[in-house]
Amino acid sequence: LPRSFGWIGLGAMGYPMAMNLRKRIPTDSILLVNDVDRSAVERFIRQSSGLGRVVEAATARDVAEQSLCVFTMVPEGRHVKDVFLTPGMGILAANTAGKLLIDCSTIDRASSIEVAEAVKALSDVNHPTRFYDAPVSGGTLGAARATLTFMVGIAADDPSFPVLRELLSLIGGAIHPMGGQSLGLAAKLSNNYISSLNALSTAEGMNLAIRLGLDPKVFSNVMETSSGGSYANSVYNPVPGVCPEAPSSKGYEGGFKIQLMKKDVGLAIDAARQVDAKVVLGLTGLGVYSAASEDPRFRDKDARIVYRWLGGIEP
Ligand code: NAD
Repeated sequence: LPRSFGWIGLGAMGYPMAMNLRKRIPTDSILLVNDVDRSAVERFIRQSSGLGRVVEAATARDVAEQSLCVFTMVPEGRHVKDVFLTPGMGILAANTAGKLLIDCSTIDRASSIEVAEAVKALSDVNHPTRFYDAPVSGGTLGAARATLTFMVGIAADDPSFPVLRELLSLIGGAIHPMGGQSLGLAAKLSNNYISSLNALSTAEGMNLAIRLGLDPKVFSNVMETSSGGSYANSVYNPVPGVCPEAPSSKGYEGGFKIQLMKKDVGLAIDAARQVDAKVVLGLTGLGVYSAASEDPRFRDKDARIVYRWLGGIEP
């Protein structure tokens, strides 16, 4: 494994992922960190003290200049393009020969392919730069527990896969090669299409159950062994108090922001249109997440707050 690592994007996901990385790489290796939000970097440096060297880098270019393996975890395609392609300051302004660049963000495939092509164009044949889309599922709880599922845009028989798997295993659980460039994102967008609608149907079903007089915890337990059960019920239940560790039980803070959920449903619908896949429920889901995202009281909260929005309950 390399001895120098970089991490760009210390948000709800990136922060705990980078912290797990710092805990699991050798103490004499270095971790360069960067985020446009300086307070996140300062907090990270404070909280990782004693785990090994963590150094703030002023730009993405500085991160890439000093590390052999760089992870990125930022919100959208435009942020990923900024981080990689900004002239003079982006990752590709650094000497990246022989380096491994891993983007874990959930973004549109076109942006990811644009970055992959820019990497390829600059890559040295003798010391190729490798770029992979490696989005994750499992949310902030999976990030904190290092149990994330990785969906990687690489073929299972690619000679680079074993190293990639070893690296990703430091911060995740199941590491899946999805077949080739940008297919990690294809899997992630299809997954989130399903999970966003599961979250919505669970929120509506829980609201119905409560209004019919049921105790939410009792009903949720029953669903675990009934056909209405899902991850959205048993791990990220939208009703406060049902899953004590879920964002809903912590004021809907620190989870998956509703505006990111809206982004993912939108990305999945765009992807579906490109391949002529029919989406009926997704359009309704997008409408609900968009409307809730427009309300400043909900915008930055965990997406499962959609339960309160649907029920007309104050956030
Ligand atoms: P977040 O908004 O909490 O964090 C994003 C971080 O990126 C912020 O700290 C922000 O300041 C930083 N950032 C933005 N632009 C930057 C730039 N140009 N340079 C450096 N830093 C920059 O978002 P998150 O919840 O951590 O999500 C990140 C990505 O992971 C998104 O694509 C999201 O869809 C995906 N994701 C999130 C979850 C979840 O449950 N939160 C789960 C799976 C995947």
